[in-house]
Amino acid sequence: MTHEQQVFDLAGIGLGPFNLSLAALADGIETVSAAFFERQQTFAWHPGLCFSDAILQTSPLKDLVTPVRPTSRWSFLNYLVEKGLFFDFMAARFETASRQEFSAYLAWAAEGIGSAHLGADVEEVTFDGDRFRLRFGDRPDATSRALAIGTGRAPVIPDGISTDNACFHAGNYLKMRPETGGKRVAVIGGGQSGAEILLHLMQQEGAQRPAAINWISRRDGFWTLQEGGLVDQFFTPNYLNAYRTLGPEAQSRALASQKFASDGLTSATADEIYRLLYRRQHLEGRRDVDLHPGRTVVKKLRNGASQSIVMRNIEGDEEMLDADIIVLATGYGPAAPACLNGLADRLNFEPDGALALGENYRVRWNGPDNNPIYGLNHGSRSYGVIDPQLSMAAWRSAVILNDLVGRTVFEGIEGSDRSLIKWTPDFKQAARYSPAA
Ligand SMILES: Cc1cc2nc3c(=O)[nH]c(=O)nc-3n(C[C@H](O)[C@H](O)[C@H](O)COP(=O)(O)OP(=O)(O)OC[C@H]3O[C@@H](n4cnc5c(N)ncnc54)[C@H](O)[C@@H]3O)c2cc1C
Repeated sequence: MTHEQQVFDLAGIGLGPFNLSLAALADGIETVSAAFFERQQTFAWHPGLCFSDAILQTSPLKDLVTPVRPTSRWSFLNYLVEKGLFFDFMAARFETASRQEFSAYLAWAAEGIGSAHLGADVEEVTFDGDRFRLRFGDRPDATSRALAIGTGRAPVIPDGISTDNACFHAGNYLKMRPETGGKRVAVIGGGQSGAEILLHLMQQEGAQRPAAINWISRRDGFWTLQEGGLVDQFFTPNYLNAYRTLGPEAQSRALASQKFASDGLTSATADEIYRLLYRRQHLEGRRDVDLHPGRTVVKKLRNGASQSIVMRNIEGDEEMLDADIIVLATGYGPAAPACLNGLADRLNFEPDGALALGENYRVRWNGPDNNPIYGLNHGSRSYGVIDPQLSMAAWRSAVILNDLVGRTVFEGIEGSDRSLIKWTPDFKQAARYSPAA
């Protein structure tokens, strides 16, 4: 049967780790017919930032399936076993997996799961009152009862900055492979991507060695990720359930106070930068790297081939810095994909552009309940600090699939009654994630 003839229960748009988790878990449910569409011809997880020494900020056991279905064949451990890597991986005693290896695992799953279709760019989605129709440039339409939006986040470009070959987002760094030899390079953004690019630049010698490297951060310091058992309690179903009971103001306060539990530097990266900096400056006498915390970039000026960054410091004074190459490690923000434009006036959005989510990750829209649209990576406000992370991806997929099929396929996802922390005084959330009747 072609896609044109079949009405799928679920069509997924985008195949990053989040929809891939949904595809992996749906793969074991015989009653669910699903198809997932990814525009890339070959799977790659954030390839523009996949440095060989970059590691996951999470455990590889928080993979596509293990937290809710450890017996699934699409686990990271099964990937290691099938590839004959298990014993060598264990012997290496890594603290976690490298992003390269995790990307290879994700690619293995994307190539193996029957419902995953690569090289399929969804250009338009329409709804005829009963089913969704997905249109592609170069393949027959697909139709489905439900949708899963897993198109990821969009690069954030600061106001006052225009991009070109000499000023580009960090997500393109390894693709651009800039000629840095003898150039002044500025990295804007004090998060993990900025740190990894700084480290990469500091490691360049010979023909690629930059003349100067400047790292600019709006943050008042170079904050590392807050970690530990108690901090990790934020990344549990119990906390997520408690967060869902908070009012909007309490949710905003919680998000602000938890920022560095999810958005700080990996300690190993921060320590390596510091040690390199120490050796460079104090032992080798090189003064070619400068770190500028507490600076907000205001605008960029062009002076012929050179560029000047205008930034404001914490006292409100403006400073100017010249650069030949600017890398914008300024993060990613929520965005609905353009293929949903035709449905936009039926969808609800958060003020930041994210799809507004209700229970079970359903987008709030004015269509029939029997035609849910699930939003993945749109729940920072509505589901909390955990939402853009891998940690609860499998759990979210289980919630969505229970809701889609209307029965409990995945048991025990409502949280544990043995929670180590009493987040709310009246903690009775068991009914929250029961499937739709
Ligand atoms: C460099 C980096 C490292 C990270 N490391 C970690 C980590 O260690 N631990 C952690 O918990 N989190 C990490 N994150 C955060 C998060 O886990 C990732 O961003 C993750 O990739 C988000 O998955 P996603 O499925 O939402 O989106 P994405 O991975 O962005 O995938 C979306 C996919 O949708 C496709 N697409 C878009 N539009 C269409 C369309 N119209 N038709 C078809 N396909 C489309 C895109 O091509 C893309 O492949 C990291 C983020 C970054 C940027």
